[in-house]
Amino acid sequence: MSTSPNSPAGASRAEAALVLFSGGQDSSVCLAWALERYARVETVGFDYGQRHVIEMQARQSVRAAMIERFPQWADRLGEDHVLDLTGFGAVAQSALTADVAIEMTERGLPSTFVPGRNLVFLIYAAALADRRGLGKLVGGMCETDFSGYPDCRRDTLDAMQSALNLGMDRDFVIETPLMKLTKAETWALAKSLGGEELVDLIVVESHTCYQGDRGELHAWGHGCGECPACELRQKGYEEWDAAGREALPA
Ligand code: ZN
Repeated sequence: MSTSPNSPAGASRAEAALVLFSGGQDSSVCLAWALERYARVETVGFDYGQRHVIEMQARQSVRAAMIERFPQWADRLGEDHVLDLTGFGAVAQSALTADVAIEMTERGLPSTFVPGRNLVFLIYAAALADRRGLGKLVGGMCETDFSGYPDCRRDTLDAMQSALNLGMDRDFVIETPLMKLTKAETWALAKSLGGEELVDLIVVESHTCYQGDRGELHAWGHGCGECPACELRQKGYEEWDAAGREALPA
């Protein structure tokens, strides 16, 4: 079968998805969710001056493991794209003056918040998806655990979807399968998509730790065990494990 940029592997735009994929737990579950649903799935990652090359390596490890261990998904998983957003990273960084830091505290946002980051990601993702003939944009945004991130809220994403479709004359759908889930329920979703095999893949291959620590393998994955990202991941995993490692009801 011949492929063209406008219809990868013969899939229509409605059957084809672009997953915003960082190599972390959440976006790995989103990738599995998309592979279960769509005939053609591509992934996009953003280099915005991330702390660790390790995040980029985790992306490749997760993709390779999914192809190897889930043959039914292998044919659906298409190209990976990495877009350079270091210019945006520099803007976000240089804006961290004392005044802005105080303002951010007054807004009640964590210091790790990068203003508008998800909005920028989505603009780039939509431009890429337009060129690649992909109609769905899938992201791991979640308003349950990080209620402080205004660009992860569904209201924001609905507005963004309207803006993208008006501005690009398209019919993109931004899908956020984790939006209402707790971190424990995200593990349950992984189990419902690919059983313990997928849970194991995500535990071992995905990367969440802010410190870039890949040393020790805990029950919940690699990581320092002390940074906020590790604490959240560990807590969610242990809650899900203690409750009997259930799959999410369909
Ligand atoms: Zn950590």
